[in-house]
Amino acid sequence: MTQKDYRVLLFYKYIAIEDPEAFAAEHLALCNELGLLGRILVGIEGINGTVSGTVEQTMAYMNHMKADTRFNDIMWKIDEVEGHTFKKMHVRPRREIVHLGLENDINPLEITGDYLTPKEFMTRMQEDNTVVIDARNDYEFDLGHFRGAVRPDIENFRDLPAWMEEHKEDFAGKKILTYCTGGIRCEKFSGWLKREGYGEGVGQLHGGIATYAKDPDVKGQLWDGQMFVFDRRRSVPINQVEHVVVGKDYFTGEPTERYTNCANPACHKLLLCEEKHEGFYMRSCSDDCRRAERNFFVEENEWTKEQVEEQIAKIAQAQISAI
Ligand SMILES: [Zn+2]
Repeated sequence: MTQKDYRVLLFYKYIAIEDPEAFAAEHLALCNELGLLGRILVGIEGINGTVSGTVEQTMAYMNHMKADTRFNDIMWKIDEVEGHTFKKMHVRPRREIVHLGLENDINPLEITGDYLTPKEFMTRMQEDNTVVIDARNDYEFDLGHFRGAVRPDIENFRDLPAWMEEHKEDFAGKKILTYCTGGIRCEKFSGWLKREGYGEGVGQLHGGIATYAKDPDVKGQLWDGQMFVFDRRRSVPINQVEHVVVGKDYFTGEPTERYTNCANPACHKLLLCEEKHEGFYMRSCSDDCRRAERNFFVEENEWTKEQVEEQIAKIAQAQISAI
């Protein structure tokens, strides 16, 4: 593999930060000075971020963080890329650095699931009486996930506790494993599972899928599809041994790993969709979005209201014949 000039860093640290507002302002100045782009959230519970920059810029940032005793043990996930993967630099103070919205919040420094290395996770995942819960959003799961993992029927991570409560019996007596992109969501979620008495032991993939993908022993095995990422790349490969496509076209169900956004800017929902189907379905997730006051697809093609209605009728017809 050739060395690329840019890098994406993914990182977090649960640690008390006294004045998140002041910290965020200072940190933004630092990132701007270094020339980084990306998104960092800061709260009294810690820091959660992803940034892109040149090798030199990202090295300087990591060195700066390592010099701060609060952050010197951060587990950095580093990807090589060809250019910046963000457009702007934001550092924002937040009440939570991951939004789980619990009334009685979890502090992972006090309670969290057992940390598992990629190798331990891979072994444990294949053991009997074990369930693997994906602690991400549904659209992330749909692009790729660990083979056999449970897909909670939720749109957002913050809906996970309520979903678990409804299905609590399914997990009785089971060993529970959880995973997410970089590990930060699982720290809270696995802590919550433990506190609420779920299953027989709760483990979490330390460093998340991003770390699992780079582990020289596991080589991303037992991961199907790609991993969704929250930057311009949208998806990255994980399994270095085999590539099984699990993504399905939103409209036709055909295998795909290509993303687009719903053409109604007020919706903007991420859709897995082959390019060849965009035109027919007007790149829109529903008839409401096709008829939306502003629809980028309609604008780009300068369609009249009548043309929109004609196409909606054709789509309805196609859906009837597909049944
Ligand atoms: Zn839509």
